[in-house]
Parts: sequence; structure tokens; C-alpha cells
Amino acid sequence: MIRKKVLVTGGAGFVGSHLCERLLREGNEVVCLDNYFTGQKQNVVHLLDNPYFELVRHDVTMPFFIEVDEIFNLACPASPIHYQYNPIKTIKTSVMGAINMLGLAKRIKAKVLQASTSEVYGDPKVHPQVESYWGHVNPIGQRSCYDEGKRAAETLFVDYHKQNKVRIKIIRIFNTYGPRMHPNDGRVVSNFIVQALHNKDITIYGDGSQTRSFQYVDDLIEGMIRLMASGEEFTGPVNIGNPNEFTIIELAEKVIKLTGSKSNIVRMPLPSDDPTQRQPDISLAKKELGWEPKVQLEEGLIRTIDYFKSIV
Ligand code: NAD
Ligand code: UDP
Repeated sequence: MIRKKVLVTGGAGFVGSHLCERLLREGNEVVCLDNYFTGQKQNVVHLLDNPYFELVRHDVTMPFFIEVDEIFNLACPASPIHYQYNPIKTIKTSVMGAINMLGLAKRIKAKVLQASTSEVYGDPKVHPQVESYWGHVNPIGQRSCYDEGKRAAETLFVDYHKQNKVRIKIIRIFNTYGPRMHPNDGRVVSNFIVQALHNKDITIYGDGSQTRSFQYVDDLIEGMIRLMASGEEFTGPVNIGNPNEFTIIELAEKVIKLTGSKSNIVRMPLPSDDPTQRQPDISLAKKELGWEPKVQLEEGLIRTIDYFKSIV
């Protein structure tokens, strides 16, 4: 067996912790780098006994030197309330983090994967979203620090590939949920589940007719692993998400049903630039990676509800 050395930035976050777990399970050596802005040691504490796991407190906006075979660059707050808390830091994390990880990959000849997002499509005018769509993004709005930061990071990845032959992979992740989302993370699935479990009001922003397509975290991790292992000529960007689309009201109703909650639904103002619809076209992932999601919403919600029951 070949034991690869893998660096995961943002490894103590929700997605990163599942990725570290999976990489270790496959027999790799994992270095998890995080500044604990939205992630927590708690997410990876169960991995600390593994001699092939290492935890490093570091900020990706600062250079980092290490010898590894592969880099998964996930460091960046992902929830709107967290990425809008310090927007300058958010865009610095995406852009300087990308430059630092690409510079490292170039020097040590590592393969590097960027965790990009469906947010690069903004409030899309093409539905479902295909990778060739350039997006409809406000450059000066509330979400811009995240959206434009991730778009600039994609540009940097593609240019390092063209100019310096760095081996890159770009994954565009659609809304993902599952165990280890932070209960105060502010994203819709965790908010609704925590509210439902406490029989508190379920907060729907706007009229709840906006849509999202929710992917269970295990499906995302499978997509990430397959993309990293794919042939060198395939760089992406590639959409990884579950194409089943739901309105936010439908999600609220499902969560109430599955938790047996007595919560009421209340309306709150819709944040500006909140995308009205989102659904991935996953033809490219199917063709290039033989990937498609396996866990549908109810099943994934049940597993996530069980997790939140165990911690709240
Ligand atoms: P998360 O907030 O749980 O994880 C992000 C991690 O990055 C945290 O552990 C945080 O502490 C760390 N981090 C933030 N800034 C950092 C910095 N400057 N230096 C070092 N570490 C830093 O979010 P997540 O849902 O796990 O998202 C992981 C990645 O996937 C992010 O890049 C996000 O943009 C991307 N993504 C996630 C989703 C989703 O639905 N979960 C969708 C699209 C894209
Ligand atoms: N949302 C909501 N109530 C909440 C949290 C979010 O209605 O308590 C809505 C939000 O306005 C958006 C959708 O749910 O339309 C998804 O929000 P999230 O922050 O999870 O992700 P993103 O907007 O980045 O897709």
C-alpha cells in the first residue's frame, strides 16, 4: 500500500473533518491545518490517537512549508453569517490562501484541489447550473467577499496550471449538510434542525420559495476523493451536488415531520442577494468521475438529526 502524505486546510471544519477521517481510513498520512475560526478541535479530537494524523494551528493567509503529495484547500468560512463577519478576512483567506497553497504545490510538485462553490454562479440565470455558465454575481454586495474570493481563487488555480504546470483540481460544491455542522453555524439545515429539536420557531427568510439542492456530506467526500484521483488532464471545475431541488419551505416541513417538532414557521427578512434558485447539473461528474449522489434528503436528514440530538 502507498501511504500518501496529504495536507487538508480547513481540516477541523465540518467538511474537512470528514475528509481527514476518510483519508486516514484509506491509510494515508494526514496533516490537518486550521486557524479554528469556524472549525473546532472537537471535530477531529477522535483522530488524535492515530499516529498518522497531525493537527497544526495555522492561518492560510500566511505561507506554510511542508512536504506532501496532495493538498485539499478547504480553509474558508462557508456560512453567510461567518463569512460576512469579517469580509476583508474572508476574501484574503480565499485569495492569499490560494496563492500560498498553489505556491507550495508548485515548489513541492504536489497535486492541489480547491474547494470552490456553487456561489460562483451567484443568483443564476441558467438553471440547472452547468460548469460552462459564467454566473451572475454582484461584485459589491454582502456575499461578494465570499463569491468573488472563490472566483478569484479559481482564476489563480487555472493560471498556475497554465503558467507553471501545477496539477490542479477545482470542485464546485453545492449546499452540503451532515453531522458536525456547527449548531450555531447559521446555515439553513443546521438552523432548522436545532430550532425544531428545541421546539423553537423555524426561521424562514423571505417567502421560502427560494430553492437549494442539498447534498449529504458522505457523497461530497466521495466526489472529492474521486476528483483528486482522476486523470491529470481533468482539472475541473466540476459540480458536485445533489440535483434534487427543494424550496426552503419544503425543507422546513420535512425537518418538522422528521423531528416530530411542535415548532411554528415564522418569516424573517430575506438577506440581500440571496440566490433564488440553485441546482447542479452533474453530467460532467457522472462522465468524468463516475460519480453521483447516493443519499437522498430524508435519509441524510435523519442521520443529521440523530447527530444534533446527541449534542444539543
Ligand atoms: P466550515 O466553516 O465548517 O470549515 C471551514 C474551515 O476553515 C474551518 O475549520 C475554519 O476554522 C477554517 N478556516 C477559515 N479561515 C481560515 C484561515 N484563514 N486559515 C486556516 N483555516 C481557516 O465550512 P465547511 O462547510 O466545512 O466548508 C469547507 C469548504 O468547502 C470551504 O472552503 C467552503 O467554502 C467550501 N464549500 C462548502 C459548502 C457547504 O455547503 N458546506 C458549499 C460550497 C463550498
Ligand atoms: N435560510 C432560511 N432560514 C435560516 C437560514 C437560511 O430561510 O434560518 C435560507 C437562506 O436565506 C437561503 C437558504 O436558506 O435562501 C440557504 O441558506 P444557507 O445559509 O444555508 O446557504 P446559501 O444561501 O449560502 O446557499
